[in-house]
Amino acid sequence: MIQINPDLCKGCYICVEICPKSVYTVSSVTNKKDIKLPSPENENNCIHCHLCELECPDQAIYVEDKK
Ligand code: SF4
Ligand code: SF4
Repeated sequence: MIQINPDLCKGCYICVEICPKSVYTVSSVTNKKDIKLPSPENENNCIHCHLCELECPDQAIYVEDKK
């Protein structure tokens, strides 16, 4: 499971760029700062490398470990 904290996201889209499996797309959903939030549309392709979680400058992403 991937969770994005909308209040912490600043819309840099590093997560969108960095994910090797193209899990994220930029959605039309906005947060309080009117930033379009990334959405893990292709979450089924996630290989749980945690790259997005580690590289997000605002710790807005949580990726659950693979079970
Ligand atoms: S890397 Fe973090 S702050 Fe940047 S768009 Fe993704 S979730 Fe938001
Ligand atoms: S954990 Fe890795 S594969 Fe999964 S969404 Fe993040 S960067 Fe992509």
